[in-house]
Amino acid sequence: MNITFDPRVFDITSYTYDDQNRPFLKGFPAGTAHWSKRVDGTIHALHFTCPCGCGACGATPVYAGSNGWCWNGDLEKPTLTPSIKMLSPCGWHGYLTDGVFKRC
Ligand SMILES: [Zn+2]
Repeated sequence: MNITFDPRVFDITSYTYDDQNRPFLKGFPAGTAHWSKRVDGTIHALHFTCPCGCGACGATPVYAGSNGWCWNGDLEKPTLTPSIKMLSPCGWHGYLTDGVFKRC
């Protein structure tokens, strides 16, 4: 599934939370994403709705150093490594490669 972008997926006031405080956002297609930025304007993280369509929200920080995903620098067709594992009940696990989410 191809990633799509919509800044409204970063409106946390629209999130709902399950009994384990995991965020969900309904009403957006699976794999809808938005890049958040640091105060200096550099990219901080990719926020997205779960590629399975369950409505769970994920976020992958992209740091130059440790504790983040490696990012190819492409805003429109990003590649993130290593794989992405959703912490939501669906447990989606897959890759984002050249702007395409693909389950493992
Ligand atoms: Zn899911």
